[in-house]
Amino acid sequence: MTQQAFAFMGGTFDPVHNGHLRTALEIQQWLGVDRVCLIPSKMPVHRDEPGCTSEQRLAMVQAAVQDEPSLAADDCEIASRQPSYSVLTLQSLRQRLGDDLPLCMIMGMDAYLGLHRWHQWQQIPELAHIIVVSRPGYQFEPNAEMAEFTARHRAETKDQLLDRPCGQVLIHELTPLGISATQVRKQVARGESPRYLLPDPVWHYIRLHRLYGYQSN
Ligand code: ATP
Ligand code: MG
Repeated sequence: MTQQAFAFMGGTFDPVHNGHLRTALEIQQWLGVDRVCLIPSKMPVHRDEPGCTSEQRLAMVQAAVQDEPSLAADDCEIASRQPSYSVLTLQSLRQRLGDDLPLCMIMGMDAYLGLHRWHQWQQIPELAHIIVVSRPGYQFEPNAEMAEFTARHRAETKDQLLDRPCGQVLIHELTPLGISATQVRKQVARGESPRYLLPDPVWHYIRLHRLYGYQSN
């Protein structure tokens, strides 16, 4: 079967958790694509809490998807010498995939509402579709710029995405999981267990490398 579309989710994944993984898997099944790629970005300039390296975030994503053939870790942003700007990533994905394959960028509602602050964000629809997934705590309450952008590009069905390579925004409801990496980092720093919010191999990796201020007794 030829591939119907390429779908991916970017993020810092600091660390990856079940909110990311469940989102990616539900979109993979709903869209009917072979797999969804998780693409960790390079480290944001600074974090207040103890964090970890790009390689460690990538290793945790790899550990999280190792037993799930429908999900894949992609190191294209971390391996790249370019800054982790979505528009640059989309340009290189376009080169890899050709002009005709639908390219779908998945993001949570919180990220979408702040899209107007991203580098060259207005060019994104020329390169990809955007699938916006619901996230507990975030309503679709766009500012004027995002409301206009959404109205201009909005699609209602996945067929509208699969019919063309780029240009559409689809808002999709999925199983609500109110998990955030911020919450996981705080729990680990406080000496609490984040177990069942993320895959066990990721929790194992955090303890092994003493990430996020983890201290064994
Ligand atoms: P942090 O708290 O450090 O910001 P995070 O949990 O928001 O971490 P990110 O790596 O920032 O995770 O998010 C990557 C992408 O995943 C974003 O598009 C974000 O909206 C989405 N996302 C994260 N958590 C969830 C969730 N629980 N449900 C739906 N989407 C999510
Ligand atoms: Mg976030």
